[in-house]
Amino acid sequence: MRRGLEPVMTGATIIAAHANRPDLRFPLPERFGERLSGRRIEALGRRAKFLLVHLDGGETLVCHLGMSGSFRIEDDALGRFHHARGKDARHDHVVLSLSTAGGGTRTVVYNDPRRFGFMRIVAEGRLEDDRFLGGLGVEPTGNALSGATLGALFSGKAAPLKAALLDQHLIAGIGNIYACEALHRARLSPVRPAGHLSASEADDLAGAVRSVIAEAIAAGGSSLRDHRQADGSLGYFQHRFAVYDREGEACPSPRCHGTIARMVQSGRSTFFCPACQPAPKPATRKARP
Ligand code: ZN
Repeated sequence: MRRGLEPVMTGATIIAAHANRPDLRFPLPERFGERLSGRRIEALGRRAKFLLVHLDGGETLVCHLGMSGSFRIEDDALGRFHHARGKDARHDHVVLSLSTAGGGTRTVVYNDPRRFGFMRIVAEGRLEDDRFLGGLGVEPTGNALSGATLGALFSGKAAPLKAALLDQHLIAGIGNIYACEALHRARLSPVRPAGHLSASEADDLAGAVRSVIAEAIAAGGSSLRDHRQADGSLGYFQHRFAVYDREGEACPSPRCHGTIARMVQSGRSTFFCPACQPAPKPATRKARP
């Protein structure tokens, strides 16, 4: 998403910002349109699942997509009211009219049918101790997440691996889908206690997290290019997952004859293969004399 928006948004000036309703998951910031209008976008960043629109004047527009949020870019020359298939205009909640660095005009539209997303305006100096952005763990991209780092973060934790991967204070930005995919790729049971990984298992899991996220970003990039031809949509993309939402299907791991199963952990569905991600055996007890 950030990569898709960057060429249009970085260096652009917000000519007008319009909210079509007062709230998403939370109320939009007061005087939303007024505070954004006339501001230049200095940089577009990301931390965990937050898009950070750094504005001149020392404030940052922080956006979270929730469950169903997406941005799309409209080229004004094609007409503002051309709507993408499946993108209902009733769910266009925020519209930013931009004068781009290249001298053109573009409209960036935030669409969110379920409205679990949110936007806030935070002073640049307050991002570190913001109630959403403060205390976030390491990024799962790049080299920051080594096996040793993951092992140290999970050390002493009795929580299941799936829950530890979703804990944003340990590793920031892994969602339910990618936690399932990474555990399957590393062939680790989602119910294993996080603190019980060997060094090589921690290496495998850290590598699996990094590769799953890197592939998702690459796939988002390619679907982005395809979408831009048709409708300018950016956002959640359909990606062929190995286990996610594939209950009852054959495990795609080479030489595995297992069937993908589903269970619920912390209220979220976990998809896994019981054959190549076997649950730990219960501790054997000595028979009573
Ligand atoms: Zn399997």
